[in-house]
Amino acid sequence: MKYYDKLIFELSVPSRVGFSLPQSEVSLPKEGKIWRQSPLNLPEVSEPDVVRHYTMLSQMNFGVDTGFYPLGSCTMKYNPKINEEIASNKVFASLHPLQSEDTVKGARELVDTLDSCLAAITGMKHFTFLPCAGAHGELTGLMLMREYHKSRGDVKRTKVIVPDSAHGTNPASAAVCGLEIVVVKSGEDGLVDVESLKPLLGDDIAGIMMTNPNTLGLFERQITQIASLVHGCGGLLYYDGANMNPLLGVVRPGDMGFDIMHLNLHKTFSTPHGGGGPGSGPVGVCEKLVPFLPVPKVSGFHGNFAVMARALAYILMLGKENIRMAGKLATLNANYVKESLKDCYKLPIESVCKHEFVFDGLKESNGVTTLDVAKRLLDYGFHAPTIYFPLLFHQAIMIEPTETESRQTIDEFIEVMRVIAREAKENPELLHSAPHNTPIGRPDETAAARQPVIKYEKKS
Ligand SMILES: *Cc1c(COP(=O)(O)O)cnc(C)c1O
Repeated sequence: MKYYDKLIFELSVPSRVGFSLPQSEVSLPKEGKIWRQSPLNLPEVSEPDVVRHYTMLSQMNFGVDTGFYPLGSCTMKYNPKINEEIASNKVFASLHPLQSEDTVKGARELVDTLDSCLAAITGMKHFTFLPCAGAHGELTGLMLMREYHKSRGDVKRTKVIVPDSAHGTNPASAAVCGLEIVVVKSGEDGLVDVESLKPLLGDDIAGIMMTNPNTLGLFERQITQIASLVHGCGGLLYYDGANMNPLLGVVRPGDMGFDIMHLNLHKTFSTPHGGGGPGSGPVGVCEKLVPFLPVPKVSGFHGNFAVMARALAYILMLGKENIRMAGKLATLNANYVKESLKDCYKLPIESVCKHEFVFDGLKESNGVTTLDVAKRLLDYGFHAPTIYFPLLFHQAIMIEPTETESRQTIDEFIEVMRVIAREAKENPELLHSAPHNTPIGRPDETAAARQPVIKYEKKS
């Protein structure tokens, strides 16, 4: 049994104390209702017991600050601490959204500056910072697309095209927006198949939702042709910019022909994420769509201001030249991992990737699944990559090393992935039963999501 398997109540020893308080100067009358009728049920522990218990609990969590986290399509990169310091500066943290206009000029300037930085980075005209997540941005962007068509009396456009490789939120947002989803197939090369797209286009198409590089980490080389085809039928192009890393300072969605896009500030622009905490999914539009930016609001007040402060700090800290390095290093790191492991893991698409790529399980699986590999990685102290997504491959392992990892860390990861491939050949049972070193091993994943047991249960 490990120390952290115990509830603090189980560490309790009668009469042990972890505090010393000065003698009280007031004495309360022992009669009356002020005194408890029965003693309070608190654990009786020493100060070191308390400190160790809570420190141990805090270490049961895994984050970018504790280890390598190659979770594809999530951009779990290191977030410089200076951004936290700036966001928590009292002048920002004590702002109230109902303060009078003339007292928040600095905050407005911050938002406007971020707007022009993001416009320069993406090639859009203006952004709204109201949406609080990527998916929220998608919904906002699609509503904006619908309004644009409506304003021109073009009410037949009720369908939106989504590639089969799209992030799950894309079709979900379109459905929430009341649009009908039409799926366009990818070709053998993992890119949108232009010939399959052509027959889908018509006067009922509101637009297409794409990301480039796509969810397989591949750059859609025919993007300008796709843009002119979609524009040609009167539709708009929506860009899912949740993972803009590889493009930073290199290519702009606006130049590719996109009209609307969202960014995830909590992925690309350095806000920690993963716990459902505050995010920001600003939506940018081309010039002709600026009048459709959301008024009234799609969220309370002005969006998540502290996330914007971090993003601006991040952009200004890097500057124009270094931000370009972020994109290049994200791409280099992903290709390095891919090339170093493709002799042990099945690589369904061989071409150069951008910030992420997908393996389709082990080359010689010996009955070992992608889930087994992911679980075994935990034993070696790495967070698992994204698995079983995208759905195009049955044993998908989606790896995104990000630009913030050193050569040494990436080499260690590669080495461990190779060890696991060897273990699969020699001792598959070891992998079927992994992980062996974590507090929780293999929960029933459906039940863990639907009926989570979030209270400690005392072991008898
Ligand atoms: C993360 C992600 C989203 C959704 O962003 P949320 O902030 O989680 O709503 C959308 N598209 C892509 C490609 C993503 O990686």
